[in-house]
Amino acid sequence: MNEITLIRPDDWHVHFRDGPVLADVVPASAARFGRVVVMPNLVPPVTTAAAAQAYRRRILSTVPGHPSFNPLMTLYLTESTRPAEVRKAARCGADFDCPVIGFKFYPAGATTHSDQGVNDIARCYAALEAMQEEGLALLIHGEVVLEEVDIFDRERIFVERVLAPLVERFPALKVVLEHVTTADGVDFVRRARKGVAATITAHHLLLNRNALFEGGLRPHHYCLPVLKRERHRLALVEAASSGSERFFLGTDSAPHPKHAKESACGCAGIYTAHAGIELYAEVFEGAGALDHLEAFASRNGPDFYGLPVNEESMVLHKKAWSVPRTMPIGEEDLIPFRAGSEVAWQVAPR
Ligand SMILES: [Zn+2]
Repeated sequence: MNEITLIRPDDWHVHFRDGPVLADVVPASAARFGRVVVMPNLVPPVTTAAAAQAYRRRILSTVPGHPSFNPLMTLYLTESTRPAEVRKAARCGADFDCPVIGFKFYPAGATTHSDQGVNDIARCYAALEAMQEEGLALLIHGEVVLEEVDIFDRERIFVERVLAPLVERFPALKVVLEHVTTADGVDFVRRARKGVAATITAHHLLLNRNALFEGGLRPHHYCLPVLKRERHRLALVEAASSGSERFFLGTDSAPHPKHAKESACGCAGIYTAHAGIELYAEVFEGAGALDHLEAFASRNGPDFYGLPVNEESMVLHKKAWSVPRTMPIGEEDLIPFRAGSEVAWQVAPR
C-alpha cells in the first residue's frame, strides 16, 4: 500500500508550552490533527477554567488558517483542586466556548513542571468524585516517584499501587493512562473495567532504551516515562496495532530548546509534532497493520471521550522526506525527532 486515506486523526496528548514558542509548534499539529488534547504543565500550571480559556485563545491565534482545528483543554490537578472548580471546568465548553475534557494527574516530581502535582491522591478524592459525576476524564502520568524504585519500574509500581485501587474506587471515572510504556501497563489497561484506556506515543513505539546510548549519550531520545526494553516496545506495538478500542494516539510531543536538552542536566521530552501522524504510519506498516491505523488514530479516542469522529479526511503517501536538522523555537533551535534523517510517509496537501 502506497497511499492510505484516514478520517482526520486527533492527538490526545500534546505539549505546546506558551508565549512566542506557540507560533513555532502549533501549526505542525494543526496541519495534521483535528483535535488535540493540550497538557496544562505551564509555569504556573493551568489550574482553572479561566486560565484554560485564555491559553486556548493564545493557541488558536497562531493558526488562523485552520478553522476546524480544535484544542481540547485539560486542567492541572492539585491537592487543592476544589469540586467547584471541577464543575466550572465541566461547563467551560458551553459557558466559555472552551472545551475542557479532563484533569491531568502528575505525581509531584514525575516530569517537566510537575512540582505542583499530587503527593497523595487521597487528598484529591473530593475532586475525583466531582469529575466522575461530571463525566470529566482523569489523564494520568503513571509513574511513582520514590527513591527506592528504579526508574524503569516506575510505571509498573504505579499501576499496582496507585492506578489499580483508583479505578476501583471510582468505578465510573474515565481514566487514561497517558503515554503507556510497559507490557505491565498495557496488560492492566486491557483487563481493566470499562472506561479505562491508554495513549501511546510514536517514539515509544519506534525506540527501545538502547536508543538512549547509541554510540554515546543521546539527550534527544530522553523522555519521561523513559524508553523501555525491547519486550515492552513490542507489547506497545501489539496493543496499538491490534485494533483494540482501549488504545489511541497521543504524541506527547514536547518541544524544548536544544540547549535545555544538551546540558549537564538535560530535560525530558521528544518533539514529534512535525511528523505526528507519519511516524505512526511507519509503525503500523512495520507491524503489517495499516488497516488498523484509522481505529487507533481517528476512532478510538473520540469513542472513548464520547465525541464524534472528525468529518474531514486525510491522505498519507508512502514517500520519504528528510527531517530538517533543526527547527526554530522562539529565538532558539529545537532538534526534532529523526533530525537529519528520513520519515517514510508524508501527508498529502489538503
Ligand atoms: Zn506529556
